[in-house]
Amino acid sequence: VAEKNQAPTITLIGAGLVGSLCAVLLAKRGYNVVIFERRADMREQSMSAGRSINLALSNRGIHTLKQADLMDQVEPMLTPMRGRMIHDLNGEQHLQPYGQRAEEVIYSVSRGDLNKLCMTAAEAYGNVTIHFNSRCDAIDFDKQQLTIYNELTEQNEQHSFEQVIGTDGSASSVRNAIHARHSQQNIVEPLGHGYKELSIPPDSEGNFQMEPEALHIWPRGGYMIIALPNKDASFTVTLFMPNEGELSFDSIDNKNRLQQFFKQQFSDLIPLLPNLETEYFNNPTGRLATVRCNPWHYQDLALLIGDAAHAIVPFHGQGMNCGFEDITELMAQIDQHNNCQTAQFNWQAVFSETDKLRQPNGNAIADMAIENYIEMRDSVNDPKFVLQKELAFELEKRWPDQFVPRYSMVMFHRLPYRDAQQRGETQKAILKELTQSIDTIEQVDFDHAKHLVNEQLLKVNLNP
Ligand code: FAD
Repeated sequence: VAEKNQAPTITLIGAGLVGSLCAVLLAKRGYNVVIFERRADMREQSMSAGRSINLALSNRGIHTLKQADLMDQVEPMLTPMRGRMIHDLNGEQHLQPYGQRAEEVIYSVSRGDLNKLCMTAAEAYGNVTIHFNSRCDAIDFDKQQLTIYNELTEQNEQHSFEQVIGTDGSASSVRNAIHARHSQQNIVEPLGHGYKELSIPPDSEGNFQMEPEALHIWPRGGYMIIALPNKDASFTVTLFMPNEGELSFDSIDNKNRLQQFFKQQFSDLIPLLPNLETEYFNNPTGRLATVRCNPWHYQDLALLIGDAAHAIVPFHGQGMNCGFEDITELMAQIDQHNNCQTAQFNWQAVFSETDKLRQPNGNAIADMAIENYIEMRDSVNDPKFVLQKELAFELEKRWPDQFVPRYSMVMFHRLPYRDAQQRGETQKAILKELTQSIDTIEQVDFDHAKHLVNEQLLKVNLNP
C-alpha cells in the first residue's frame, strides 16, 4: 500500500468504469487521486434497474485490466460468448461464430460488479479518495478551481485542482468546460433509436433457459433484440428500435400493442419473459447518440477520456473497451513524459499526445459501431453477408498475416481502430469482388484471391 506522498494529485470527475480503472493505474504509479462522483457509492446502494446491466468485455479492455493487475479478480466474473446465436422469425436458431480460434471469444460481465471491483482496487492503494454524492458543476481554469455540488448537504463547495481528467460520461461537465474555452467541435449526433432492458430469469431449477455461451440476436430489419448471459443464469435482454414512427417506442404504448408486436416478431421470447409488460412499461427508455468532440484536452490542465470524449452507440460492444484503451494510452504518455522520482512533469505533452493519438481512433470506432447496428439487425440474415463472413475466415486461414476479418481486428486484437477501419474497407472491397457472381465458398477463385490480398494488404501488426 502506497503512502500518501509528494507526487502530484490528479482529480478525476466520475467514478464510472473508466474513472475508477484510471484511478487504479494512476495510483499504481504513485500519483494521489481524488475523484468526485455524482452518484452515491454503488457498493452500499443497489444499482437502478434497466440501464445496461451487463457488457461485452473484449481484448482491448482485458489488456488494460491486466495492466492494472485485476484480471485474476475479473476472470471469475466472466461468461464467454463464442458467437451470435441468430433467432429467426420461425423460432429457429443458428450460431455465427465470432472468430475461428478457441481464444476468439468475448465475455459478458456485470457492469456494476466490474465498477465496484475497480473502485475498491483503487482505494486499496491508499492514495485514492472517492467523494460520492459530489457533482461537478463548473470548472474555472484560471483559478484552477472546481465547483462541486454536494447532494447530501445541498451546498456548493470549491475545490482546487492541479490536473483534472473528465471521466464523467456522455454528458460530461468537463467537456462542456473545455469547450466553453475553445471549441472546434462538440457534436452530439442522435441515432434516432433507443433501448429498453428486459430480463429472462433462470428456469425453476436455476439453469439458463437458452444457450449460455452466446450473444443472442433477434434481427428484424429496422429493429432488433439482443440478450447477454449473466452469472446467475439469467439473461439481460435489450430491445433496440426507433424512438418515433410506425414501429417505435412511441407507437408501442399500450399492453395490446406490445403483446401483438411480440407475438408477430419475437414469439419464441414470450414464454421466457414473464415480466414483459411490467419491465417494458416501467424500465426507462435509453436514448442513443454519438458524441464527437475536438479537442479532448485543455492546455496542461484537463483531459477527456472514455464516454466524456467519445460516447458511441453500443453495437460493437466497444464503448467501455475503447475507454479502457484510452487509459492505456494515457499511462504510456505519462510514463514517457513524467517522472515522479525526479519530480518532472510535462502534462502539456501527456494530454496533447493522448488527444492526438486517441481522437482518430475514437472517431473510427464511433463509425464502426453505427455500421454494426445495421449488420446486427439486418445483414446477418443476408446469404451474401453469410458467404462473405465464411470467405473472410477462409482468407484469414490462408493469409493470417494479411487478411484478418474486421470484427476480429476490433474485438480480438489491439491494432488502432483507425487502422482496423481502413484495412476493413480494403477487405470489404476484396470480399465483394470475390463473391459478386457466386453463391458458395467452393466457387471462389482463390488464385484471384491470392493476387488481390498480396496486391492490396500489407502484413498486419495486430498487437502493436
Ligand atoms: P460512465 O459509465 O457513463 O461513467 C461516468 C460516471 O461519471 C458515472 O458514474 C456518473 O455518475 C459520473 N458523472 C457524470 N457526470 C458527473 C458530474 N458532473 N460530476 C461527477 N460525476 C459525474 N461498452 C462495451 O465496451 N461493451 C458493451 O457491451 C457495451 N454495451 C452497452 C450497452 C448499452 C445499452 C449502453 C448504453 C452502453 C454500452 N456500452 C458498452 C458502453 C459503455 O457503457 C460506456 O462506454 C462506458 O460506461 C463508459 O464509461 P465511462 O466511465 O466513460 O462513463
